[in-house]
Amino acid sequence: MDTGISRRGLFGAGAAAASILAGVPVASAAPAPSQMTLRWWGNNGWEIRAGTKTILIDPWLTRFKTGTYTPAGADPRTPLSVDRALIDHHLDHGDLRADHILVTHGHYDHLADVPYLAKRTGATVIGTETHLSLMAALGAPEDQLAIATGGEDLTFDGYSIRVLRSLHSATGSRAQVPFPGTRPLSRRDRPRVIEDLVEGGTLAYLVSGGGASVLDLGGSNYVEAELAGLRPDVLLVPPGGAKVTDYVPRLLRTLGHPRYVAATHWDDFDLPLGQVKDAGGLEPLRKAVTAASPASRFVVLDHLGSFTP
Ligand SMILES: [Zn+2]
Repeated sequence: MDTGISRRGLFGAGAAAASILAGVPVASAAPAPSQMTLRWWGNNGWEIRAGTKTILIDPWLTRFKTGTYTPAGADPRTPLSVDRALIDHHLDHGDLRADHILVTHGHYDHLADVPYLAKRTGATVIGTETHLSLMAALGAPEDQLAIATGGEDLTFDGYSIRVLRSLHSATGSRAQVPFPGTRPLSRRDRPRVIEDLVEGGTLAYLVSGGGASVLDLGGSNYVEAELAGLRPDVLLVPPGGAKVTDYVPRLLRTLGHPRYVAATHWDDFDLPLGQVKDAGGLEPLRKAVTAASPASRFVVLDHLGSFTP
């Protein structure tokens, strides 16, 4: 396929794949594939390959059960766990690696595996003071932790990272942030249960390298002023945003209607890696993106599926 999207990477086959590809003219002059490849690890976990470098965003492979999708919601006292065998498997027998790990916020489904991944890969980890406090207390090597507040524009060998102030998803009728809170870097008591992993501010990241750029929001919200003028090739956008004014249209307009809009954070993360189930937001997101930006390619990947923008 000249689109750069691997067949195996497309979510499902047949009808699902056809719906993803619908509306893309066969003879469209697709731009030449870049040297950037994106691979989805479920939830908001992304692996960005830029040349020989690898940048991970919110990698969370463990995916333990919390009850998130039951009427009662996630049990805040659910113990934290890290599936080291699963992570080891992908590091030792797969091709998972990392030069940088970017953390969008402190919640368990974004941060819980990062301390172990940092230890295993030696990657530099970026996050807010709260995120670093949580990760240090969970055993992350402290000399690998780099604090950010949003506004940083950093260049490394083969890629660059722009850190952007952002906002967490606002849920329910009161537009609240689940497990809110912050903690200072000096605090070292070990988080034990999921409510201990507080949000601690939310960052978005623009990663550029290998001839392309990708923007990840981290939650179903954003700071428009931070995004103004940015023109990413790929936007990773979560469903939701019901309480955010004009969530999808305003976002796509602000970013100049990116060529690729890939769904993120849409799968039921109480299920293990490899079992992809729509938590309910995928179709509304697809409709919103298609309506607001008909020329954008809406990309939906399977776990470990990849594409090259
Ligand atoms: Zn969250």
